[in-house]
Amino acid sequence: MKTPAYIKRDHASHWVGDGFPVRSIFSYNDLASHLSPFLLMDYGGPHKFAPTNERRGVGAHPHRGFETVTIVYDGEVEHKDSAGGGGRIGPGDVQWMTAASGVVHQEYHGADFARQGGEFEMVQLWVNLAAKHKMAAPRYQTITDAAIPRLEIPGGSIRVIAGAQGEARGPALTFSPMNVLDVSLKAGHATVVDAPGGWTAAVLVLRGALGIGRESAKAGDFIIFERQGAGLELTATADARLLVLTGEPIDEPIAAYGPFVMNTRAEIQQAIVDFNAGRMGRIVEEAAV
Ligand code: MN
Repeated sequence: MKTPAYIKRDHASHWVGDGFPVRSIFSYNDLASHLSPFLLMDYGGPHKFAPTNERRGVGAHPHRGFETVTIVYDGEVEHKDSAGGGGRIGPGDVQWMTAASGVVHQEYHGADFARQGGEFEMVQLWVNLAAKHKMAAPRYQTITDAAIPRLEIPGGSIRVIAGAQGEARGPALTFSPMNVLDVSLKAGHATVVDAPGGWTAAVLVLRGALGIGRESAKAGDFIIFERQGAGLELTATADARLLVLTGEPIDEPIAAYGPFVMNTRAEIQQAIVDFNAGRMGRIVEEAAV
């Protein structure tokens, strides 16, 4: 069994654009080598937004060399990118965007949600790509709640977004082996999720509490496990909702600058040149009606 190594509790907060009040759970600046293939996680909300006719969010910006995965728990997110990808996702839905060689995209609250206002809660996860995939063509996957299999377990359920758990297979196409799981577990119940020896493993507590040795990890806490040992034991000490990440590490150097994550500084400089030259494309707005 994997053993907990560290609980990260104090997360810096900032706004991404005017739509996403996030806690920085981790980033390539601090924990990249411990969390590979995962690069960054922003936890947006929970936050109650007043109704508005304004467009809230973050306008056109580029990415290269990795994937952005947006998991919506409450509210709505609308996305559009220069590779033609786009859509609106709501509670339970996931958007898995492969920036790879480069896209420009925008991320806003859904128009209907913005008009009505309400509770907003989401996670954005950045997943690294190995060098051989960094310049692959961009890809966009909308994964609806209905497409995500739910494995029933004693005292709860596991929604398999990516990878596998028991007989359930997640719908997300990934470039390297990983499991992304949305786990609900009632107080007093325990479960063991599959996680091979040598894989990275980490858990974000969204609701409730998890027993970690003699400690308790509460909402907002992020638990990083040792890579050795197989299987991840989760024991809920209060009704819990957890985002569980496990994955095979990508053992390559990381060179990162803002929205670009490559292997070398020269590749970062090239990404900046390519973006400034318009080679990551542009977003085509629909004509107003
Ligand atoms: Mn983005």
